[in-house]
Amino acid sequence: PLTYRPAAPIWCAGCGHFAVQGAIESALARLDLPPHEVVILAGIGCSGTVQNNVGTYGYHALHGRVLPAATGVALSNPSLTVIGAGGDGDGYAIGLGHLAHAFRRDVSLLYIVMNNETYGLTKGQHSPTHDPPVAYESHTEASLDAVALGLSVGATGFIARGYSGWYEQLERLTVEALTYTREQRGFAFLEVISPCITYRDAYPEWEHALVDLEAEADYDPRDRAGAFARSVRLREDGQLPAGLIYRDGREAGTPRPSPAHARTDLAVMHDRYVELAAAYTLDVDAEPVR
Ligand code: SF4
Repeated sequence: PLTYRPAAPIWCAGCGHFAVQGAIESALARLDLPPHEVVILAGIGCSGTVQNNVGTYGYHALHGRVLPAATGVALSNPSLTVIGAGGDGDGYAIGLGHLAHAFRRDVSLLYIVMNNETYGLTKGQHSPTHDPPVAYESHTEASLDAVALGLSVGATGFIARGYSGWYEQLERLTVEALTYTREQRGFAFLEVISPCITYRDAYPEWEHALVDLEAEADYDPRDRAGAFARSVRLREDGQLPAGLIYRDGREAGTPRPSPAHARTDLAVMHDRYVELAAAYTLDVDAEPVR
C-alpha cells in the first residue's frame, strides 16, 4: 500500500516551533482526528515546513497567502479540519490584509502564527512584531499586536496567545481552538510566542513579559471590550497577555453573532480606547528619533 511518511523537522535545536508542532500533533491525537481528515497549510518561512511534518495533507502556500488558500479549502470541503500556519513575517507583513478580513469573515479554520519577532529563514531581519530599539537604531516602528487587531476589527471567534515555553497551556489552547472550529464553525486565531534561538533568542524576555490571563480570577474572555482594554494596557507596560484572551459566547450549532452585535462591541471599545488614550500623555517636546 501507498504510505506517506512525514518529513523530519529541519529547525535549529531549541527553536520554539518544535513545541508548536508537538501541540498540533497532540491535539489531533486527543481529538481523534485521522490524518486524511486534516489539512495543514503553511506560508513561507522557517515555520512553513510544519505543513510537511505532521503527516496530514499539506500545502505550502505562496508568501503571505495562507489564509486565502485555507479559506478556499475550508469552504470547498467543510468536513475537513483546516489549520493554517505561518510566521509573523508571513502573516503580519505581506499577509496582514488577509488576517484582518479573516477575523471578520469568521470561516471555520484555525490559524496559528509562530511569532518570533524575526525573519529566521532569511537570517534575522526584523519583522512587524519586533519591539524597538534592540539591534538596529533605524528600526523605530512600534510593534504590531495581532490580538489587539483582531479584537478591534470585530472578530467574532476565538483568540488566544500561547508560548512555546509553556507547553501544557499551548497544547490545551490548540485543542480548544480546534474544537472551536469544528463545533462552533468559526475562526480561531492562536498566536504562539515561539522564539528563534538563532537570531532572536528571547526566551528570558518573554518569560518576563507574558502575563497569563487565565491565572486572573476576574478576567472574563467573553468580554471583548474588556479584553481589548486589558491588552492595550499590558502593552503600554511592555507586557503581553497570554492564554485564552477572547472567545465569543455562542454554543455549538448556534448562528454566529450578528454584525449589529459586533458594531455594539466596537462602539464600547471606542469609548474604552478614548479613556485609555486620555490616561497617557504624548511628550511633544521629546527629541525625534533619527
Ligand atoms: Fe527556528 Fe530561528 Fe532556526 Fe528558523 S532560524 S529554525 S526560526 S531557530
